Amino acid sequence: MKYIDLHTHSTCSDGTDSPASLVRLAAKAGLAAVALTDHDTISGLHEAEQAGREHGIEVVRGCELSVGTEQGEVHILGLFLPQDPTSLEELENALQYLRDHRSRRNAQIVQKLQEMGLEIDYEAVLNRLGDRAGGESVGRPHIAKLLQEKGYVSSIREAFSVYLGNKGKAFVPKKVLKVSEAMGLLQRSKATICLAHPGLMACSHKWLDSFVAKLKEQGLHAIEAYHSEHAPAAENMCKTLAKKYELAITGGSDYHGNSKPQIVLGFGKGNLRIPEGILDTLRNA
Ligand code: AMP
Ligand code: ZN
Ligand code: FE
Ligand code: FE
Repeated sequence: MKYIDLHTHSTCSDGTDSPASLVRLAAKAGLAAVALTDHDTISGLHEAEQAGREHGIEVVRGCELSVGTEQGEVHILGLFLPQDPTSLEELENALQYLRDHRSRRNAQIVQKLQEMGLEIDYEAVLNRLGDRAGGESVGRPHIAKLLQEKGYVSSIREAFSVYLGNKGKAFVPKKVLKVSEAMGLLQRSKATICLAHPGLMACSHKWLDSFVAKLKEQGLHAIEAYHSEHAPAAENMCKTLAKKYELAITGGSDYHGNSKPQIVLGFGKGNLRIPEGILDTLRNA
């Protein structure tokens, strides 16, 4: 039996492997397919697909969007994004808009850190990215890394708890799409739309159930049941919801390279195995 991984991040957003190395790693791990799902960008897809052809592994074209709900930020994955530029134009424009907001927000966060006396500048955050492929969807993890390198914190976790997290001293909220905006965009770009890692939400089961019902009405195709951070109970809860609302199931490690070293591509925290059959069901969803 072969396995797949349909949720990964590269240096185009907050992962640490270039799209090509990520795909090479996936092939080396024996996976049959890997989806690149960077936050707010699809700039790594071309490179990933090229590497896929080189290494004989299917690359699924994806991206991950954040949406706002009354229960906080929720993530939506768009998979099987089309190739033709016309179908992608509206999505590309929206992603550009979100990245412009990210840049302004990053500058505000850095300014708050400076006002607290920390010697850190936005140029340095961007320079750290060097000439990595894309490197265009920049966010808090990049700032966290610099804070750690400069010795202001001893870990990424501390960077978030003291400065960058929603209770941190330099917190600035991120611009997110409305649920209906994201669903409309992905639907019009003919993506397969998946609710990402529902098990990570701090909400009641009742709320999640009604949220999935609403998403289904707006074109949701699948629920991410398999995820590195899903306990068996969360995985089962997702499968039950998928059955109830006639949705497909998807799964991925949410690999980020060294920035989340405990998560291994295709294997999560060790026992994640997403069977290849999931991909065919999803393709037809
Ligand atoms: P941003 O998109 O800039 O808001 O950054 C969000 C990313 O930061 C998420 O995808 C996580 O990978 C990471 N993140 C959020 N909270 C934490 C935390 N407490 N510790 C480490 N990483 C975090
Ligand atoms: Zn991420
Ligand atoms: Fe996510
Ligand atoms: Fe993710």
